[in-house]
Amino acid sequence: MTKILIVEDEAGLRQGLEINLRLENYETAQAADGEEAIRLFHSERPDLVLLDLMLPKKSGFEVLDHIRKLSKVPVILLTARGQETDKVRGLRGGADDYVTKPFGLQELFARIDAVMRRTDVAQSAKTICEDALIKLDPSTREASARSQKLKLSPKEFDLLMYLFKNRERVVPRDELLSRVWNYRVDLNLNSRTVDTHVTRLRRKLQKAVGTDAAVIVAVAKIGYRYLGEVPVPA
Ligand code: CA
Repeated sequence: MTKILIVEDEAGLRQGLEINLRLENYETAQAADGEEAIRLFHSERPDLVLLDLMLPKKSGFEVLDHIRKLSKVPVILLTARGQETDKVRGLRGGADDYVTKPFGLQELFARIDAVMRRTDVAQSAKTICEDALIKLDPSTREASARSQKLKLSPKEFDLLMYLFKNRERVVPRDELLSRVWNYRVDLNLNSRTVDTHVTRLRRKLQKAVGTDAAVIVAVAKIGYRYLGEVPVPA
């Protein structure tokens, strides 16, 4: 279960967050000042930290500094409206994201999900993906199909890896946009971007494998699925 450390000196907000996060099935720990935050960070080993910046005893920046010297655990800042420089300073100091008070719970949950997904992706990023057809090595970014080297663009590589890892199901275009393209940072993308990349990727795979058979299939109006092994050409 994911454990979240809530660092917030305003008791009402802290307790409200605790109740709502527990309802969403998160484990929680609460700190009301910067020193307690550091203490609990060590004893509770949270998977994610919600961190207010203006805190008694030690500021959120000091807490963030302390955390970042030791770990990459995701940190979401709870910032006050209008504190633009604080947000920037926090993000530069290694925070993963922020929400501006007053924030809605749905927004906070969405940010927590997104940050946790990125962390999962980063953790599994070094595993080599391999089946009878392809091999993808994320640490060297080398890809091959039937032992033939594939020349993939970075996005094509990420796309193939994501489809491969989720090959038991059809992956919707929207999910590809958010997970492979991280579309929050580029709003000019749309599902046609996905289609274009998949088309190119398919061609490269078919050429390497020497077949017209689809290695990645399109499922009408939904998305794509990696099929893996295709019949050996006669
Ligand atoms: Ca505060």
